[in-house]
Amino acid sequence: MTLRTRFAPSPTGFLHIGGARTALFCHLHTRHYGGTTILRIEDTDRERSKSEAVEAILAGMHWLGLDPDEGPYFQSSHCEKHLEIAEQLLIGERAYRCYCTKEELDEMRDKQRAAGLKPRYDGRCRNRSEPPQEGAPFVIRFLRPTTGEVVWEDKIQGEVRVRNDELDDLILVRSDGSPTYNLSVVVDDHDMGINLVIRGEDHLSNTPRQIQLFEALAWDVPEYAHMPLLHGSDGAKLSKRHGAVSVLSFREEGFLPSAVNNYLVRLGWSHGDQEIFTMQEMESLFDICEVGRSAAIFNNDKLLWINSHHIMDSPPEELLEDLLYQLEQIGIENVDKVKLLSAVPEFQERSKTLVEMAQKMAFLFLDDIDYYEPTAAKKYMKISALPPLTELTRRLESNNEWTLESIEKVFASVLAAFEMKMGKLAQPVRVALTGTATSPGIYETLYLLGRTKSLSRLQAGVLYLEEKSQSTD
Ligand code: GLU
Repeated sequence: MTLRTRFAPSPTGFLHIGGARTALFCHLHTRHYGGTTILRIEDTDRERSKSEAVEAILAGMHWLGLDPDEGPYFQSSHCEKHLEIAEQLLIGERAYRCYCTKEELDEMRDKQRAAGLKPRYDGRCRNRSEPPQEGAPFVIRFLRPTTGEVVWEDKIQGEVRVRNDELDDLILVRSDGSPTYNLSVVVDDHDMGINLVIRGEDHLSNTPRQIQLFEALAWDVPEYAHMPLLHGSDGAKLSKRHGAVSVLSFREEGFLPSAVNNYLVRLGWSHGDQEIFTMQEMESLFDICEVGRSAAIFNNDKLLWINSHHIMDSPPEELLEDLLYQLEQIGIENVDKVKLLSAVPEFQERSKTLVEMAQKMAFLFLDDIDYYEPTAAKKYMKISALPPLTELTRRLESNNEWTLESIEKVFASVLAAFEMKMGKLAQPVRVALTGTATSPGIYETLYLLGRTKSLSRLQAGVLYLEEKSQSTD
């Protein structure tokens, strides 16, 4: 039997990092065992479902590389089928019409509470054959078995047992004629041939009800894996309050999709003491049965650490799309991709995020730099640097080839002429070229920046020092 899993988000907001983790686990487990992933948008709650949310979910999944094999299917378009099944249950006497009014239900629950019982529907309409009055509104309830128990072997939680008499008769169709979540999910899971449901632990209480329904309909019951939820560092369920929780906000912050996936997979799953995984490794190693039961804690520092590793290990081409995006965010557009690709390796070890990388690279793509960082200027743009800087500029001007070797030679000749150490010359050059005190190796910086820009920035640096020396005379 081929594995068929689904990710079934409700489109009420962006793709949350917890939802992304569910989608990732479905994807990885399914890839490992060679099955099909399905995306089902559970949009039956018309008031809370938004089309922008659907777009955001699709965009988030795409960015993470989790596009489904099938779908998106929209649950709302199967509504008639859900109602047909409710009708079938009514005819087969596995469901009944309940005419209880809100007042009646409130009174019933108050009494149960007063008697120290758990409030739940007591099944009083099970035996009512006629409506209390013609045209009285009703809901359709499932006539659940009251003896025995529901048992399933959860792939994460282990054996779960729930006594049928602990449950109540679930509403399948509301009084406005709309099907409820549990009915829709069961019908869709059946119709889509889902044989493994991977979802959050917050759905554990729905599962026995859904299994009862599968059984009443004589349908195959899927297997289940309920994932522990994601918590913030304060132990509370992860929410907006904990900062970036929308998947795409991680993109904004310069994280790589492979790093986010790697981070998420390690929340609850491990493979020896390996921390860094490529997507291919995760797809071949991950097994949902190996996920632990304790709640996972979200930790931004760890994510940052994993991200810096992925930045270091990725082939430059893989960084290109998101890096271009980050450069655009700081106003650098129409970047020469060949030049960018050749520069990337010089920055991979220096950047924890792509935001940082884009900022560090910006000097290469700006026409000019109009600003030296004050601390860098104060420390390195000293008047004593004026003679060697002037000489270096002059010698580089007459050096027609612009290769790493020729740049290095010119540098060496100036250092020898002034009997000075590399750092004394490299730092003022660096500030003149980049406006900062950090950049790749100085020859690489000159080389990547190119002859024209390098010379004009060195000339500006010389001018800056000349003005400084005049103003201090
Ligand atoms: N639509 C539900 C949710 O977003 C998931 C339902 C399920 O996985 O069964 O929480």
